[in-house]
Amino acid sequence: MTPDLPKNLPTLEPGWVWLTGAGPGDPGLLTLHALNGLSQADVVVYDALVGAGVLDLARRGCRREYAGKRGGRPSPTQPDISHRLIQLAGEGLRVLRLKGGDPFVFGRGGEEALALVAARVPFRVIPGVTAGIGGLAYAGIPITHRETNSAVTILTGHGATGAVPADIDWRAIAAGAPVIVVYMALKHLDDIAARLIAAGRGAGEPVAIVSKASLADQKVVETTLGACAGDATAAAIEAPAIIAIGEVVRLRGGLDWLGAIAGRELVADPYATRARPASG
Ligand code: SAH
Repeated sequence: MTPDLPKNLPTLEPGWVWLTGAGPGDPGLLTLHALNGLSQADVVVYDALVGAGVLDLARRGCRREYAGKRGGRPSPTQPDISHRLIQLAGEGLRVLRLKGGDPFVFGRGGEEALALVAARVPFRVIPGVTAGIGGLAYAGIPITHRETNSAVTILTGHGATGAVPADIDWRAIAAGAPVIVVYMALKHLDDIAARLIAAGRGAGEPVAIVSKASLADQKVVETTLGACAGDATAAAIEAPAIIAIGEVVRLRGGLDWLGAIAGRELVADPYATRARPASG
């Protein structure tokens, strides 16, 4: 039996839009606010990264509108989607805008919210578990670990034009970011790895590629900066995939809890067999 939702969760009022994160895929990673929205919405406007398991939790009779890319057909542009949200709210519907991960992490949630502000449509923002944190946790990779890094840098490998973003200072990142998490990196992984190596990172530095994190067909490739692009191709890694670069990747030997459920033997100190990372 599913327990009732807690009392005092907000009501999704007619004419409102809830800009909601759906998490990386596993419906168990939804927030109670997201589930509450799904249980009240008249229409759910969802992206490609929102899985069937999440959509199945929508109220019976709730309309589902797909707003992502569909093979062969032109995908709706961002202004199209914002316009559609405004239109649905204007019809007095209770609108749940559902996005993969967190709406404000490479999700254009800010753009949609600002369009709602301009149109005076009332809205609420419901954060979600982002792929670069929760998705990596499903691969047994913490994005920070006291022994390895006190900072983490999150990047997109894909700018507005489709190329590697032009505004990334690779030298600064290579020098100052002990752990780098890259979203949307698969297409340009060779380019990204080459830029980081050219900027001073070691070709032997550990890298994990995590595809379809938290879903039943999650796949993880442990590799190195020098070999990651070739290994991604060889392993036929599919999008969506998140990339982690840095010493934290080695912790997977001890923290791959999903692997352990499937029978993998974990090691309590994944660093024991190698030299500690040089400090300072
Ligand atoms: N708002 C989303 C990110 C959208 S950008 C979030 O917070 O997670 C799309 C990118 O997110 C993908 O290219 C991939 O890098 C990452 N991503 C989203 N879901 C993922 C998943 N289940 N497994 C691996 N990567 C994922």
